[in-house]
Amino acid sequence: MSTSVPSKLNRKQSDVLWEQARGVMPGGVSSPVRAFRAVGGTPVFVRRAQGPYIFDADGFRAIDLVGSWGPAIAGHAHPAVVEAVQRATVDGLSFGACCGAEIALAQRILSAFPHGNIEMVRFVSSGTEATMSAVRLARGATGRSRILKFEGCYHGHSDAFLVAAGSGAATFGTPTSPGVPVEVARDTLLAPFNELDGVTRIVRESGDRLAAIIVEPVAGNMGFVRPAPGFLQGLRELCDRCGALLIFDEVMTGFRVAMGGYQNTCRIRPDITCLGKVIGGGMPVAAYAGPKVLMEQMSPVGPIYQAGTLSGNPLGMAAGLATLDLCAAPGFYERLGARTRELAAGLEQAADVAGVAACTDSEGGMLGLTFTGAPIRNFEDAKAGNHVRYARFFHAMLDRGVWLPPSSYEAMFVSAAHTTEHIQSIVAAAADSLEEIA
Ligand code: PMP
Repeated sequence: MSTSVPSKLNRKQSDVLWEQARGVMPGGVSSPVRAFRAVGGTPVFVRRAQGPYIFDADGFRAIDLVGSWGPAIAGHAHPAVVEAVQRATVDGLSFGACCGAEIALAQRILSAFPHGNIEMVRFVSSGTEATMSAVRLARGATGRSRILKFEGCYHGHSDAFLVAAGSGAATFGTPTSPGVPVEVARDTLLAPFNELDGVTRIVRESGDRLAAIIVEPVAGNMGFVRPAPGFLQGLRELCDRCGALLIFDEVMTGFRVAMGGYQNTCRIRPDITCLGKVIGGGMPVAAYAGPKVLMEQMSPVGPIYQAGTLSGNPLGMAAGLATLDLCAAPGFYERLGARTRELAAGLEQAADVAGVAACTDSEGGMLGLTFTGAPIRNFEDAKAGNHVRYARFFHAMLDRGVWLPPSSYEAMFVSAAHTTEHIQSIVAAAADSLEEIA
């Protein structure tokens, strides 16, 4: 850990790199949120990350609440994970062939879902691939083409998901991005999160053409939105009634909010589960999983095609396995959850003292903060938050050495490397920051 820590953020190197990056990559980034469009200013260029910290190109150290958007649950560069990857590296980076590590990670994942409707796993390399493939499986298995997703839920960037509603819940989707064919978007129906009435109407009108309902069981791409009591159970029942499959996108919540995923907490069984982030421990690993009878409809056993050159590669499997080993330590999720709740309570109290309306909530190591006075039930509520205030808060926190997600629609992630002292430092920085911007 560096001991010479600049006391104030100095962006000299980041400014130089930002200038260079914009010349060779669209918007200077490999993924849009990194460009700071939602908060303004020069993006941080990270040179390295260790435990709960990131260090930027200028050597500035910040406590990290992004954690690579979730994977870094054990803290960055955990020695056990690094060692496992280093050990795997010397035997070759990728084989494009079967390796034993795939079986080990698959078994580890399966063993985390005790209620047994996840029996097989297919590894892919990103969350986008996992959800895209899950939808293909649902369509292939049901022989139907429509899917239903919820406003404000993000399932990666494949065509079927880049869709917004026209008017009214039951209208056909329209593309939100040029390049998504209208014909594809039409098969994606939208409903507001947490409102079963809209879903019931859609199921009544076109349930016989519905292949799947896909949902983030705790929504983490519009801040943090907990499912209302009965919502997920209602989706399960509606799927059963119309013969559609229920897909839980646990790319974010999987092994983040609990061992396995949120389904182990809420006890509702999806037909297909998508995983990513934590199961790769920072390497590009994701998966979709379900009962044997469904999963064996995938090629090469069944006719539904999906493949990947780097899928199940030995480095990703090693990082995932080492990370899930750490998560399996007794009391891991209890400690993580307690620390995250401590942070949520501290932030809320700091906001209270500063007279700033704020809502926080958390589950396991996932936390949301929205500057609003009312609880957030859906995307409309999330949009009504004070996003300008968040942008100012983001920069005030960064100046004080805390790295928050550069968008108020993103959840925050606490790791096992965050101690109570780190949480207290974050809360103290928040109290200062909120006073400054209130
Ligand atoms: N599903 C959810 C719930 C996600 O949060 C994300 C990414 N944040 C994805 C899918 C897509 O994953 P990836 O970025 O690995 O493609």
